Amino acid sequence: MTATTMRAVVVPELGAKLEVREMPVPTPGPGQVLVRMETSGVCHTDIHAAHGDWAAKPSTPYIPGHEGIGIVEALGPGADSHRIGERVAIAWLGSACGTCSYCLSGWETLCTKQRNSGFSLDGTYAEYAVADDRYVVSVPDGVTSFDAAPLTCAGLTTFKAVKVSRLRPPETAVIFGIGGLGHLALQYAKIAGGRVIAVDIEDSKLALAARLGADEVVDGRAGDAAKATRRLGGADVAIALATSPRAFEQAYGSLRRGGRLVCVALPADGTMSVPIFDTVISGKSIIGSIVGTRQDLADVFALHAAGRTEVVAESRSLDEVNECFDEVAGGRVPARLVFEF
Ligand code: NAD
Ligand code: ZN
Ligand code: ZN
Repeated sequence: MTATTMRAVVVPELGAKLEVREMPVPTPGPGQVLVRMETSGVCHTDIHAAHGDWAAKPSTPYIPGHEGIGIVEALGPGADSHRIGERVAIAWLGSACGTCSYCLSGWETLCTKQRNSGFSLDGTYAEYAVADDRYVVSVPDGVTSFDAAPLTCAGLTTFKAVKVSRLRPPETAVIFGIGGLGHLALQYAKIAGGRVIAVDIEDSKLALAARLGADEVVDGRAGDAAKATRRLGGADVAIALATSPRAFEQAYGSLRRGGRLVCVALPADGTMSVPIFDTVISGKSIIGSIVGTRQDLADVFALHAAGRTEVVAESRSLDEVNECFDEVAGGRVPARLVFEF
């Protein structure tokens, strides 16, 4: 029996404290499933969105969250009946049109008609969520719901970022920001055969990077991280995951000739300055990368089920949501927080 009310986190207005409210369990619409959430990860994107950091803003009130894992408990009209009882992931890509050139060519993440969980759709910081039955992704038995949550955005996004970087052995990748995304980016870069340099500004993150197999760690507080990276031979690939525009410029400045900067973080003050002459003469590329497709997420889960990745996360309850945002924003989290219901 599905409950009729649920506890959910609500952003009442942009920049305000989040509230835990008792709300009616949503009714799945046509083609939707009702998912009883087991876990939901806290992505830094949820903080940017709730603060109204970008030109694109969610309309309030809304429920945040796009790393949600749970069991399909009910179906809306026309939804796939095979999904009942299935354990699924609700990711940032809540739905897309399925028919445009992006959707048809494996770039559904660029669909202009997409809707996003915890942004333009209510998200997963709640005991129940509804989602499009075609866009939830099945979670295999070899992945716990606790680990699956961070994999659903942090893992997916960095798996894709490494893929679009075309990193290959024996190239070097430098990763700026070893947080929720970065601790997984580092592992995918190693799997891709790269030598990895990890940059952060917190001792605990540098220690984590070393434990997870970084070949070199650079303390961003100890001087210019670009110079430090160049002293280590420079990078063929730089992945920008730190929420500071300065770190993007340092990531660019770390590149060798032919290097590729992959921009992933979405800082509030979102501009960087890039030297045109150097970009042209040195044949450098600047690539934007946004989450990943449903197939990418299935690949991320398969790698994890095969024991190839480790998720570093701590458990929290919904009531702690405001403290969680402070902990993540303050860089005090090793490396992801996950709500368990
Ligand atoms: P996080 O807070 O867990 O990690 C950020 C890390 O950067 C922290 O470890 C912090 O100590 C470090 N850092 C901060 N300033 C630094 C600096 N100057 N140099 C080096 N390291 C520094 O955040 P997260 O959840 O990993 O998200 C990171 C960013 O990626 C956010 O802006 C988020 O919105 C964005 N994001 C983008 C996508 C996408 O698809 N493009 C998907 C998910 C998240
Ligand atoms: Zn489309
Ligand atoms: Zn995210």
